[in-house]
Amino acid sequence: MMAVVILGFTGGAVLTHRALQPIRHLIQTVRGILATGRMAARVPARNSRDELGELVNLFNGMLEKNDALIRGMREALDNVAHDLRTPLTRLRGSAELALQSADADSWREALADSLEESERVLTMLKILMDISEAETGTMKLNLAPIQLADLIRDVVELYQVIAEEKKVTLLATPPKNLEIQADRARLEQALANLIDNAIKYTPAGGRVEVTASQQDQEAIIRVKDNGIGIPAAEIPRIWERLYRGDKSRSQKGLGLGLCLVKAVIQAHHGKVEVESAPDQGSEFSVHLPLRQGPAT
Ligand code: ADP
Repeated sequence: MMAVVILGFTGGAVLTHRALQPIRHLIQTVRGILATGRMAARVPARNSRDELGELVNLFNGMLEKNDALIRGMREALDNVAHDLRTPLTRLRGSAELALQSADADSWREALADSLEESERVLTMLKILMDISEAETGTMKLNLAPIQLADLIRDVVELYQVIAEEKKVTLLATPPKNLEIQADRARLEQALANLIDNAIKYTPAGGRVEVTASQQDQEAIIRVKDNGIGIPAAEIPRIWERLYRGDKSRSQKGLGLGLCLVKAVIQAHHGKVEVESAPDQGSEFSVHLPLRQGPAT
């Protein structure tokens, strides 16, 4: 009897100790993170597919996600700080210059310059924050079913006057029944950026066309122009923050439009591509997943 009891107790104790090992690892990992702030720590993975194994996997997955988010936010903050340094330095420079002068006219001019520059900084800051949010996955998207035809019609209508002023023909061929799930305001903003660029970089007498079609499980919106085009060497760089093409510097712009378009489209699980040749024109195509389920 004694032997059976002792064996039972020892066996039970060994089994309990082994069963609780993942919990001990979990506690150690959490303690380590709390003490050092190092988000790279992970609980040692288990091979078994029981509940504790699943808990460990889920916990590690959560740590992975938090780690990526924190890294993304840090990077975003660094980028914004870096990108704002130049315009803010310019702002300070013009104020300092004005202070050295005793002439009221140059003060007025400096104040006007500072006002313009601070407007620019504010716009940049807003767009940079939007880009960072979209890139790190923290952008809040109000997803709703959208008929692409309505969206294209609305944005094209908005740009008709600007196109007329520049003597560029702006045409839209809205699709019959293409429905996607997207944040309408954000998508309008992205499409507006592409149309704005197409008009901006197309000389008078040119033509901009907006079309949409379905391919497999994707809707593709195309914005095509026959404007100045983009040299092959510049194409990979046009998506970067603050990049402006050599021939485009004479036009107004911040060099943030395409970066925002890319980030917003990627936040919708889509992609944006370009085909372009100098003096022939450019075609930007936005690929977005089609809405699943019955049409509304
Ligand atoms: P911005 O237009 O403010 O310079 P963007 O990020 O919108 O900045 O575009 C980056 C660069 O890509 C532009 O400076 C320009 O050189 C090029 N680009 C964008 N769209 C077009 C287009 N439709 N035709 C020719 N070049 C374009």
